[in-house]
Amino acid sequence: MSDLINDTVSDLARKSVKEITPYASARRSMSGGAIWLNANENALATEYQLSGDFNRYPACQPAALIQVYADYAGVDANQVLVSRGADEGIELLIRSFCEPQQDSITICPPTYGMYAISAQSQQVKANIVPLTTDFQLDLPAIFDTKPKLIFICSPNNPTGNIIPTGQIIAVLEQYKNTALVVVDEAYIEFIAQTSVAGLIGQYANLVILRTLSKAFALAGLRCGFTLARADVINGLKQMIAPYPLAEPVAQIACQALQPEAINRMQQNVALINKLRDEFIRFAANLDGIQRVWPSDANFVLLQVQNASSLVIALQQQGILVRNQSSQLGLSQVVRVSIGSATEMQALQQALLNIFTLKLEESI
Ligand SMILES: *Cc1c(COP(=O)(O)O)cnc(C)c1O
Repeated sequence: MSDLINDTVSDLARKSVKEITPYASARRSMSGGAIWLNANENALATEYQLSGDFNRYPACQPAALIQVYADYAGVDANQVLVSRGADEGIELLIRSFCEPQQDSITICPPTYGMYAISAQSQQVKANIVPLTTDFQLDLPAIFDTKPKLIFICSPNNPTGNIIPTGQIIAVLEQYKNTALVVVDEAYIEFIAQTSVAGLIGQYANLVILRTLSKAFALAGLRCGFTLARADVINGLKQMIAPYPLAEPVAQIACQALQPEAINRMQQNVALINKLRDEFIRFAANLDGIQRVWPSDANFVLLQVQNASSLVIALQQQGILVRNQSSQLGLSQVVRVSIGSATEMQALQQALLNIFTLKLEESI
């Protein structure tokens, strides 16, 4: 169909649209393969049932869902916004708090790519303050920036480490009256006791992003949450679409947040953390892997001699992993999501095949 759109008409698109490189999601950029370890999904899926008719528009912010998430996160219901994934939360925050071509955000790469892409698509500048070599915040360099929003990802994707609460508090204090500090806790269930959600009462400028895509094994659902003081949440509600969440999504999300389902999620998280620690020990003993970083999430970052050769070699054995070498501050690294026990077994066998071969070829 695209050849029906003639050049003159497509020229009408905004400048920022023509300039943008869309997020290269794992699903968009890689296909095929039987074992998907490239998008930090959770292989331990559950089935859900839908009920009722769908002839009515859904609630913008379904009260039952807001309440179960508030209970789960330990905040008040008026401190919760539900959206189409945490990604929509990121976009809404930038849209609600940053004037295009005027305000900026601060990001600390290597980190999640959507902060920069969302900012760029809305003509908001991103101040880039790289993490230190041990993947901590460079506080003095952050404090040199004058953003409206600072994005801190903890545990950080793709490095896997948490950012110490002390560092987050230092940023909250520094920007008390001038900027919102957005802590992206997409992977927080994998290291639950480190959440900063308990600080919402203390810091009016704290915002937390959460998702059902990772620990809850519901990436296909597209459901995320923003936690903050009610006045911030109300600002976001001004900008959100009238029906951001389809009714089936609200129903399934509610089921996933019932006590038994939360229990099951926590058991799955414990299993994934165990598989992760086993994989880290295994990978650290492989000849061709130079470095394995510790991880507090459901993925592990590996340093190798040639990341793209490793990605291809694994793909040839039906296993998809993600090359993260183009990230600022990283080179020749591959991110491996932790799958099921069977998948991790297959991955270990595949790595043994490659690295035995690669003794001759040097990967
Ligand atoms: C996966 C991920 C998200 C996106 O979550 P969705 O709810 O699926 O949109 C946000 N932040 C980080 C750090 C992620 O890794």
